[in-house]
Amino acid sequence: MSEFAWFKLLVRLVGILLLGLSVPMVLWHVGSLAAQMIPSGPMSTSGSMEYALYSTVPGLLGYGAQAAFGWYLLVRGDWVIRKVLAEIHGRCAVCGFDLTGVKATSCPECNTPVRKSEQKAPEHT
Ligand SMILES: [Zn+2]
Repeated sequence: MSEFAWFKLLVRLVGILLLGLSVPMVLWHVGSLAAQMIPSGPMSTSGSMEYALYSTVPGLLGYGAQAAFGWYLLVRGDWVIRKVLAEIHGRCAVCGFDLTGVKATSCPECNTPVRKSEQKAPEHT
């Protein structure tokens, strides 16, 4: 297994982790909102309904965003992979092909144009 494949696997695992952490919280918020929607008696007013909404929606949005990001990492994640792999010297940002010694302007493996920053990593530290 190449380093690139390992990195992709890692991104997927982080996606699963994020989903695992956020989806139960989304369900919990949805559940608590649904529970508060049910009229509980003469004491419940439209004011408490609004409060329930305002107190639940931020959490729902937050965990929803986390779940969405986790899902993105799980099923795609290509932007993240590109961004991080672009930092790795001499590797194609799309397929991870080793570009050391390759003089072509595009990747021989997947035909992605090679950026100069990927071909020549800065020598200084
Ligand atoms: Zn490539």
